[in-house]
Amino acid sequence: MVRNAERKDKTIMRRKALKRIGKKGLENLKYKALLKEMDLPQRCEVGLSGCMIGLFLTVAHRHKRSHYKTAEELADIKQIIIACTLCHDTIENDKELTESVFNKLRGDEQN
Ligand SMILES: [Zn+2]
Repeated sequence: MVRNAERKDKTIMRRKALKRIGKKGLENLKYKALLKEMDLPQRCEVGLSGCMIGLFLTVAHRHKRSHYKTAEELADIKQIIIACTLCHDTIENDKELTESVFNKLRGDEQN
């Protein structure tokens, strides 16, 4: 009986955890799994002045996070570049620079 109660508790806990993660959280997990499968560069692709090249690499997106609705959109190679934190921060605050960097590295979004 004790065992059954324990199992029931675990099931409830798991269900609660999933509820807490929510739909957005699940998409985020899926996105991370998709990224892992991709053969992404191991160095910064932006290379602005002061670039840290192979250190502190992050994934930079073409648009703000809220633009993307699914994990597949978020992990689309046309929508992401590998950038060191310095380059990431620099382009993030400059919409035009972000667009020109993406167009140069990944081509126009529509093509
Ligand atoms: Zn960089």
